[in-house]
Amino acid sequence: MNLELSPLQVVWEMTRASDAVCEECRKQPSERHPDELTAAEGFRLIEEVKRFAPPGGPAPALVFTGGDPLKRPDLMPIVQYAIDLGIPAEVNCAHSALLDAGAMEDFHRAGVKRIVLRTDSPGAPLAALEAARSLGLGVEMETALHAGTIPHLEAIAAVAAQAGVKLWTILFPVCVEPGHPESDLRAAEYEEAFETIWRISQDAPFAIRTGNASHYRRFVARKLMESGRPDHPHPAPMDSQREAWELAGVNAGRGLVFISHLGDIHPSGDLGLLAGNVRTEGLVEVYRGSSLFRALRDPDTREGKCGDCEYRCVCGGSRARAFAMTGNFLAEDPRCFYHPGPMPGGQRPVESVEMG
Ligand code: SF4
Repeated sequence: MNLELSPLQVVWEMTRASDAVCEECRKQPSERHPDELTAAEGFRLIEEVKRFAPPGGPAPALVFTGGDPLKRPDLMPIVQYAIDLGIPAEVNCAHSALLDAGAMEDFHRAGVKRIVLRTDSPGAPLAALEAARSLGLGVEMETALHAGTIPHLEAIAAVAAQAGVKLWTILFPVCVEPGHPESDLRAAEYEEAFETIWRISQDAPFAIRTGNASHYRRFVARKLMESGRPDHPHPAPMDSQREAWELAGVNAGRGLVFISHLGDIHPSGDLGLLAGNVRTEGLVEVYRGSSLFRALRDPDTREGKCGDCEYRCVCGGSRARAFAMTGNFLAEDPRCFYHPGPMPGGQRPVESVEMG
């Protein structure tokens, strides 16, 4: 898929409402916003997503997220509409009483491709993951990485393996306030976390991806170069869509677009720069033509060491973190330890070769 013309993934935050409570991150239950996109507007958004597909070609995946999408009583007809249009649908749910066996059966009946569940503790309830797997639904897991979860990564990985997870996404924080339990790591701590993730990945029966830490791709590429097997970018197999995601260097606005509960169009959920609103503008036109998205897709717009880096096509740094910490979304990623230089043995990084 040409990322200039279409994202690989559209993420729609259907609502911010959620019953989930997290003492660690101070999250409290929240209600639906009165101005969130209606079902009719949701149907129109889905038709916009379909418009990305070339004739006879695939549409991007559509991720329904929140908050908790199950807080919307119109969730199932909306999801069904996307699936009927041939759009691969994923639902990112919160752990709550709404996520019961009936909801899982509804997802399965509708043809949902994957369920994604956030699991930040090895003691998290597994029933939902197991119910999804027993129905044949694909299961993915997300974990926020911070000082509270780092010591438990191995144990959480064991939970993922037990639950039959296909992909584990480890979400790195973007500059949470100092003193917050989920505050950001220092650059050197990122590298330590990468070592742990890499070690887990060597035996894991699932693939691992990072969120807001695309420099893990640089870490992996160098590990593979050092080991003499640069043509095996991922120790565990990914499905073709996830593989394409990694190889294409998907990043905010580059293969990814986020629609807020109010219809605002952003490059990602963590990069809150505004490019338009689906109530008044075409999603396809905004993704392809807005100066913000075009700058994000061009690796040569990166500044500082990200601009000099041989990994800028596959990594490019976290644009959300650069913006949060410097006010410049094109600045270098302040949490990358790497200083651009020659590869081990003078080789070029494999992904850069593949990207041309
Ligand atoms: S310098 Fe920038 S582009 Fe290079 S690996 Fe680090 S974050 Fe990625």
